Amino acid sequence: MQPNPYQQEPIQARPPGAGECRFCGSTPAKKVAIQSMAGVIFAYELTTYKGWICRDCGMSLYRDQTANTLKSGWWSLTSLFVVPIFLLVNLIRWIRLRGLAAPRPTAGVVAPNPRPANPGRPLFKRPVAFLLLFALPFVLAVLMIVALALFA
Ligand SMILES: [Zn+2]
Repeated sequence: MQPNPYQQEPIQARPPGAGECRFCGSTPAKKVAIQSMAGVIFAYELTTYKGWICRDCGMSLYRDQTANTLKSGWWSLTSLFVVPIFLLVNLIRWIRLRGLAAPRPTAGVVAPNPRPANPGRPLFKRPVAFLLLFALPFVLAVLMIVALALFA
């Protein structure tokens, strides 16, 4: 019997690989780590999401993890200095993802989510943004150090 020339090869489903978002399987994606932090008197508890992440899943993750950090990061004795630095590190990682093109699904990839995550509400439209005021002493201290170094 002749093989049917119109029959298509079935697409093999596979998990996301290198260069594909670990959450939705879309491309392009970048390898990053986005974290949140909770302060516990003397210590910190870190939650880390690491791997290939697309722009939209990254934005959703960045916003949620930063909101979590703003909510629960301040409850340690060294938080006033540690949390602002931590927020800056996350911000720089997010800026690396921001430049990516809009995610497109990859045929044959089966990921935990069927499509890129909804980015969610912007951080400054969430009530938790007020907790950024805790970072004010740190910002003022850095500005004072810079001013003293330059002008004293
Ligand atoms: Zn994604």
